[in-house]
Amino acid sequence: MIVIMKPTAGKAETEAVIEHIEAHGLKVHLSEGEMVTIIGVVGDKSKLDFQNLSIFEGVDRTMPVTESFKLANKKFKAEPTAIDVSGVKVGGGTFVVMAGPCAVESKKQLLDSAWAAKNSGAQMLRGGAYKPRTSPYSFQGLEEEGLQYMAEARTETGLKIVSEVTSLHAVEVAAKYVDILQIGARNMQNYELLKYCGRTKIPVLLKRGLSATVEEWLNAAEYIMSEGNENVILCERGIRTYETSTRNTLDISAIPVIKDKSHLPIIVDPSHASGVRRYVPALSLASLAAGADGLIIEVHPEPAKAVSDGPQSLNPAQFSRLMDSIRQMAPLVGKEVL
Ligand code: PEP
Ligand code: MN
Repeated sequence: MIVIMKPTAGKAETEAVIEHIEAHGLKVHLSEGEMVTIIGVVGDKSKLDFQNLSIFEGVDRTMPVTESFKLANKKFKAEPTAIDVSGVKVGGGTFVVMAGPCAVESKKQLLDSAWAAKNSGAQMLRGGAYKPRTSPYSFQGLEEEGLQYMAEARTETGLKIVSEVTSLHAVEVAAKYVDILQIGARNMQNYELLKYCGRTKIPVLLKRGLSATVEEWLNAAEYIMSEGNENVILCERGIRTYETSTRNTLDISAIPVIKDKSHLPIIVDPSHASGVRRYVPALSLASLAAGADGLIIEVHPEPAKAVSDGPQSLNPAQFSRLMDSIRQMAPLVGKEVL
């Protein structure tokens, strides 16, 4: 249920309503927008007669929120959320590009990747230190050593860093280093991991599960937010379909659908969506045109030598050309490239 306040309602009027709701054992989520203040109510709705709220001066109307996700719901917060990632805003009209290798392989490989990302205009460096690989015999990541290289790359280049966490232990370690905790597609419904990340205040990049519906994905975001961390960035990375010419199928519709249902920012990963390097530019520009708030792209100094996801990684020159196209197109769709 949400309570929409009149545009003329002041602080005291809003507080009186909140007090009344909380006195009935329900939780409140306040969204003070430029135009309208919305009080979101979470909990057992039967505890309160919402009709009676109209006796409060300042209440305009109440409305049920039928969806299972509340804090992630646009009805709870009308304005798009911009998430502050150590000073870089994700969402709310900007277009942010995160780039870097699939996996951190060595200090040199990571620093070369970081400079390639930086020199072409990316704001953030990606790089996996804990790798959830399909085969247990594939490279599993450098773990904390990899995160140390990421932090060094941040010091050298100024790029913010994003890295995947695959376990509660990995969150504890990564929390010391990263600007964004990444939850991978395979862990989107790992509820313990979601809750654990929710107890940090570190922004979370939440990838869509391989076969997850938008509703399941937004409920995964809700798990993080309901623990107190509202800094969630959604990431569409392609879903499983019958099509085999690409690694996954980029669900481009997910962008306007998310914009319709949620206030959270959404970025796109065209690398894992396609699995094919030469398709990455088209999917990137399509995502920008469809309203995405940014991209996360795999870039490797020498893709042929990459230990993972070489075939979908761009080399520095290809990434640089793509960034030129992004900068040309962004103003046409009302986005500011940071
Ligand atoms: C990744 O970004 O390195 C990754 C493993 O992606 P996904 O979780 O989308 O498969
Ligand atoms: Mn990868």
